[in-house]
Amino acid sequence: MMSGFPIQNSPVSARDAPASIYVAPSLAAALDALSEYGAAGAPLAGGTWIMRSPIRHEPLRSHYVAIGRIAELTAVRIGSDAIEIGAAVTHAALAAALAGLPEFAGLAAAAGGSANPAIRAMATIGGNLAASEFAAADCVPALLCLDADVDIWGRDGRERIGLAHFLAVRSTLAPGRLVTRIIAPRAERKTAHARLPLRRSGDYPVAIVSLSVSVDAANRVQTAQIAVGSVEPSARRWPRLEAALLGRPLDAAAAARTAAELTDEFVGRDSVDAPGWYRVSVLPGLVRRAAIAALGS
Ligand SMILES: Cc1cc2nc3c(=O)[nH]c(=O)nc-3n(C[C@H](O)[C@H](O)[C@H](O)COP(=O)(O)OP(=O)(O)OC[C@H]3O[C@@H](n4cnc5c(N)ncnc54)[C@H](O)[C@@H]3O)c2cc1C
Repeated sequence: MMSGFPIQNSPVSARDAPASIYVAPSLAAALDALSEYGAAGAPLAGGTWIMRSPIRHEPLRSHYVAIGRIAELTAVRIGSDAIEIGAAVTHAALAAALAGLPEFAGLAAAAGGSANPAIRAMATIGGNLAASEFAAADCVPALLCLDADVDIWGRDGRERIGLAHFLAVRSTLAPGRLVTRIIAPRAERKTAHARLPLRRSGDYPVAIVSLSVSVDAANRVQTAQIAVGSVEPSARRWPRLEAALLGRPLDAAAAARTAAELTDEFVGRDSVDAPGWYRVSVLPGLVRRAAIAALGS
């Protein structure tokens, strides 16, 4: 018997509605419930992606386990060597927690500039990473640039894996698994996040460039991590551009020119929002904007 707050325990009449939403009072209770439901269940965090399932013609799960009231999943811990972000931390709370930490300016901009204020107050970082069909997730490229890890728990154990690996396997995770934490190491670096919404700020971005660089005293790039989101089905790093920037002074116009020579490795996804070629074509401009923002940070 589960403790917590069953909101709805029997099938409702609305077509496609879930049969139950269980509000888990603790992490252990959430893991038990997810394990019990198996493939018929899934976590429900902010619900901002799940609620649009009918629009995407995707079936809802029969059972959802709401994780928003689990204390350890809603905290941001800022340590001396890493930050740990609970999976149910909202975009708004994350942006607020990172204010005043310049090395995380890119992630703060990603979380604080996504969607609109009402959505940011609900949408969570864990949901952003776990929504495998959501190509335009803002926090994913920002975290790829920070070499973030993801903690995944199940009733039978836990594991910590790199974010890029998580993105590759997330759609095949065994039922009952829950992202609990995202861990990003601290480092001296400049970070930025540039996105291009088609019409207005609430739109999904057509393309995203996140950037993290460290420079020496002469402003030469020592390390570079650049990630692209929304162009292909899943965000990924841009290793050829990263390598091309190393050892050179960070210059926004030059970085954009180099990016323009290297966009051929992307195959943009076509959608009703924008054709694939357009998503690729805006990347140099976004690299330029990200570099300008990083230089100013
Ligand atoms: C109109 C609109 C515009 C938006 N625009 C943007 C935008 O531009 N950029 C942006 O980044 N976001 C945007 N969002 C928000 C986007 O939906 C969320 O960022 C995010 O992808 C979902 O977070 P959530 O907490 O609402 O997840 P939910 O909807 O609760 O869940 C999403 C998926 O992740 C799974 N899941 C959730 N939490 C976990 C966990 N801890 N472990 C394992 N699986 C989990 C769920 O089972 C589900 O499959 C927008 C939303 C709306 C409605």
